[in-house]
Amino acid sequence: MANSELDLIERIRKRVALPPGSGAILGIGDDCAIFRARGAAEDLLLTTDMLIEDVHFRATHRAQDVGWKALARGLSDIAAMGGEPRFCLVSLALAPWAGSRWVDGFYRGLLRLAARENAPLLGGDLAHSDKCMCDIVVVGTVPRGRALRRDGARAGNAIYVSGALGGSALGLARGRGNAWKRHLHPEPRIALGRFLRSELGATAAMDLSDGLSLDLRRLCLASGLSAQIWTPPVFPGATLEQAMHGGEDYELLFTLPARASVPLEFEGLPLARIGTMRRGRPGAVEYDGVPLAPLGYDHFRNV
Ligand SMILES: [Mg+2]
Repeated sequence: MANSELDLIERIRKRVALPPGSGAILGIGDDCAIFRARGAAEDLLLTTDMLIEDVHFRATHRAQDVGWKALARGLSDIAAMGGEPRFCLVSLALAPWAGSRWVDGFYRGLLRLAARENAPLLGGDLAHSDKCMCDIVVVGTVPRGRALRRDGARAGNAIYVSGALGGSALGLARGRGNAWKRHLHPEPRIALGRFLRSELGATAAMDLSDGLSLDLRRLCLASGLSAQIWTPPVFPGATLEQAMHGGEDYELLFTLPARASVPLEFEGLPLARIGTMRRGRPGAVEYDGVPLAPLGYDHFRNV
């Protein structure tokens, strides 16, 4: 089997129909699904995300960092749609090594972020397994019909990113310093996502979870366009390679009409233009005029 994650998602998506009148507005393939309850002024955003020992974290990581990151990843998907978090659910499978102290630490980290972002924990499940595994569900809201999706970019739109890229990949390689903190403690860009939706009129957005090269390709595919980019802001000490292909930065990637006026920063977070959406082969990304391979993190590339 040599399926990419994109191929697998596509295979699953082909088998799923959204029943008309069910309230399902957007299904598989974006940062969140969108559900519209009859007569509601707000749409619901739903996302689910797994965190697995030895894939996403190690037994040696502090439990509270693991709990924080589990929720931060889900909240980042809500941010990517321009939404407000409402609540979360967490299911946790515990390995034999994870005792009550680890569990306490995990929930301490998770609940600290949940309290800060107004996403109370409303339920979940507990089980045992050979490795620790966590599955999180986050539900958010957005004014009806206003969610930022990946498929809204138009030819000629400017492409932007928040922050600097490659910090998480650098941290993972170094295992210490500011970059390591960034890897362990990603910040979901909730306020920025809301600002992009309500003030800037962004046409499309997503969060950078798997690396710019792969995630921009996904945005391009969803919008049926190609992209031309130049060098993005690079996290201090990171390589260009880490900035282009490294995962888990959880910054926002978004598109805007070219004439939109964009502040240089939002609440201290830099916003930088990195390119332009173009007509052309959907999904193709050029960096300084040369095709850019989607080398970002794909769980299934080497399966
Ligand atoms: Mg995402």
